[in-house]
Amino acid sequence: MYNPKSNKASEFIDHEEILASLEYADQNKNNAELIDSIIAKAKECKGLNHREASVLLACEIPEKNEEIFKLAEDIKKQFYGNRIVLFAPLYLSNYCINGCIYCPYHGVNKTIPRVKLTQEQIRDEVIALQDMGHKRLAIEAGEDPVNNPIEYILESIHTIYSVKHKNGAIRRVNVNIAATTVENYRKLHEAGIGTYILFQETYHKDSYEKLHPTGPKHDYAYHTEAMDRAMEGGIDDVGLGVLFGLDKYRYEYAGLLMHAEHLEAKFGVGPHTISVPRICPADDIDVNTFSNAINDDTFAKIVACIRIAVPYTGMIVSTRESQKSRERVLHLGISQISGGSRTSVGGYTQEERPDETAQFDVSDTRSLDDVMKWLIDMDYVPSFCTACYREGRTGDRFMALCKAKQIQNCCLPNALMTLKEYLEDYASPETKAAGEKLIAKNIPDVTNPAARKTLAERLQKIEQGERDFRF
Ligand code: SF4
Ligand code: SF4
Repeated sequence: MYNPKSNKASEFIDHEEILASLEYADQNKNNAELIDSIIAKAKECKGLNHREASVLLACEIPEKNEEIFKLAEDIKKQFYGNRIVLFAPLYLSNYCINGCIYCPYHGVNKTIPRVKLTQEQIRDEVIALQDMGHKRLAIEAGEDPVNNPIEYILESIHTIYSVKHKNGAIRRVNVNIAATTVENYRKLHEAGIGTYILFQETYHKDSYEKLHPTGPKHDYAYHTEAMDRAMEGGIDDVGLGVLFGLDKYRYEYAGLLMHAEHLEAKFGVGPHTISVPRICPADDIDVNTFSNAINDDTFAKIVACIRIAVPYTGMIVSTRESQKSRERVLHLGISQISGGSRTSVGGYTQEERPDETAQFDVSDTRSLDDVMKWLIDMDYVPSFCTACYREGRTGDRFMALCKAKQIQNCCLPNALMTLKEYLEDYASPETKAAGEKLIAKNIPDVTNPAARKTLAERLQKIEQGERDFRF
């Protein structure tokens, strides 16, 4: 029985409710009147429920689809302006006892070397990341209670925050590790993590169990209820995601939104971010065996429909996607991207090593500086801002500001200051020249005169060597 407030995965992600929603969407995919009314509701920027949103995703009327894309673009501009936040993944260990059949780290894959970074190696990786200009990391590790116990993760987080190299600092560590206990989530919270990210992979229970035949991750309910435990453990910001291509994308989309509705209903705050990875090739993984893989057009439609359904939830696209594909979806609603990423353990320090320990093949292999220049040339303001988490603007405090569109008074000046830091410390001459012009062009968009004045003063101070200002 569907119940968004329930503690049970089988009730807040109710299979029958998803099927009924998909049927409703299918019956109405050419119903112009209904689609118009849903688009009108979406224009209020308060989001849509999974059923309404599923109709938009299924919509087959070309003019209405154009309106949907246009609306996604408008909402993205209203909530996120032209800013894109940058981060990098940091792989700590590829030891894993799970059997996820789409991931080369699965326990029975004997063709890859297993590697776990020491604290000294983590320090070196962090220095390499700081020297690129990164301020925000997402740490990743397989599930292995012997090799990667929670103590190892906590020690690693402590190491990452402690490295201060030249003007570098990692100011926010997001964590992507396996579903765990409330007690362990509490420890992660106390260690000062930003967002706890856990991809559902697929919301379809039968598929989930087949795709995860062995290991603790086989337990669908334990995995799906992880965000509830994380929030009970004090973590305010959680990041959802599915791996598109494992099951039918419309099923996943409805499940994803129901998960968001559940968090909102139970905790009064929806997900902080949603990630949209697609299945892609890797060691031991043949993408052709996944018959639900989605093409670029469908991918763009999904991004647009997520943007419309949950306007105040950030959306992340990684370097799994090519430059071309990222370019296509940025304006439709993406607010965060990774750049200069290595998806192998030790990948930032071992330049020549083939990516034999990579979790997936990176499509966008450009350096961070190239990604910065690319964004700047497209008139996006790349941002390394981490201010909210450090000012305690998390969870419902963050969402309240976001829903009231107040947060933007902080985002743009913070983006410009962190961009300025990047230009001073790490940029190539070409990126620096282009970035300075972009900053000058964007200062007038800070509408509050007092904030604009403070921003100008701080930009000057950054030029003189001071760092880490925030609004
Ligand atoms: Fe392990 Fe995660 Fe890969 Fe599954 S997806 S095999 S849990 S590293
Ligand atoms: Fe994100 Fe907050 Fe910075 Fe805006 S001010 S970019 S919401 S951390």
